[in-house]
Amino acid sequence: MINKLGIDDNTKRKLLSLTERGTLNHAILISGGNEEERQRLARYLANFTVCISGEERPCGVCASCKKAANNMHPDIHIYEKLPKKRFYAKEDVKNLVANAYITPNESDIKAIIIKELQNMNIECQNLLLKVLEEPALYSSFILTSNSKNVVIPTVISRVTVLDITDTGENRQTSKRVLETAKAIGSAILSPNEFDIIIASSALEGGGQEFTDVLLELSIIIRDALVKKTKGTGEQSRVPEAAAELELYLSKKQLIDLYDAVTAILNDTNKNKNKTLMLTALSTKLRRAVKF
Ligand SMILES: [Zn+2]
Repeated sequence: MINKLGIDDNTKRKLLSLTERGTLNHAILISGGNEEERQRLARYLANFTVCISGEERPCGVCASCKKAANNMHPDIHIYEKLPKKRFYAKEDVKNLVANAYITPNESDIKAIIIKELQNMNIECQNLLLKVLEEPALYSSFILTSNSKNVVIPTVISRVTVLDITDTGENRQTSKRVLETAKAIGSAILSPNEFDIIIASSALEGGGQEFTDVLLELSIIIRDALVKKTKGTGEQSRVPEAAAELELYLSKKQLIDLYDAVTAILNDTNKNKNKTLMLTALSTKLRRAVKF
């Protein structure tokens, strides 16, 4: 199902853990898919950032959403290369970085869309890196790129990658991601403290797959919370995993667990050592449920 902003349910489900806490991660890279899909999603996230509704955002009806729909919102900034140039101009990237530190006009947070990083050379990507390393308090970055492989690794390490490619290979990965997330969910309940590490050992160290598993895991935990509070609107593709957590964990434990996973999500990629990363994941999850 496609909603009025052109975002399908599956993508929305993926975005849940990124948007549900009210603020977007500091920087998101939308990669894969086609340019139209990437820009639609970028605008959706920018609109989410500036929407002033207390209900589901973006609401599409508040003053901010109306301005966003008409491309008139003063706190949505969109950058792209000049039409006749191959790459972004260095001056423009410098301006973009300086602008990120200026406070917003109306919203709490500015949404800065930087289109199509395949058109930004390495020198300019390094300029951009500075603002990603020393976050500007009032800015959320929404980057897009045809592939994450054209983005320098230091930038990748500072962003949450949302890959929207729909290929056979991705669907295979997606199955492994689901199974791993489900296995970690079960391992959280295990008395053996090494089970989380064992369940997650199939992951190839850091990178996209690790992020995807954490996203799925956060959806599972969220569903368990929804069940616990007798709410509706479960989203996970492995409802049995959510049911299991709901059965054995208290509401407080589930909330702490959800917080732990979203905190790790914001931290992913910074630690490249696989063993250390999995140990940290295990420690944080176990601490959240205090078994
Ligand atoms: Zn709104």
